[in-house]
Amino acid sequence: MDFDEYQKKTKKYDLSEETTDLKAVGFIEKVLGLTGEAGETADKIKKLLRDKDGKFTDEDKDGVKKELGDTLWYVAAIARYLDIPLSDVASSNIDKLESRYQRNRIHGAGDER
Ligand SMILES: [Mg+2]
Repeated sequence: MDFDEYQKKTKKYDLSEETTDLKAVGFIEKVLGLTGEAGETADKIKKLLRDKDGKFTDEDKDGVKKELGDTLWYVAAIARYLDIPLSDVASSNIDKLESRYQRNRIHGAGDER
């Protein structure tokens, strides 16, 4: 199979509608932005661990703080698109973690533990 044939065949399995709805495009852009900023945060920390033996200066921490802020901006934007107050995101997360802690389920995997 050549790649052009493969590309044509992929459309059959794509369940998404093609859209030019700018609100939908804006939302998708925020989701992509979140993954990008999370990656930038991880990459910055990776380089600090690799190049500075894990010894973070105040300047290094400031750089990480800026990336965390960029990440938080996208979290807030995505929640806004979905009409979820950011305070609700934070309190729901603590409630979930407290429930796991009380049931000794902090370790392990899976969203619904
Ligand atoms: Mg950034």
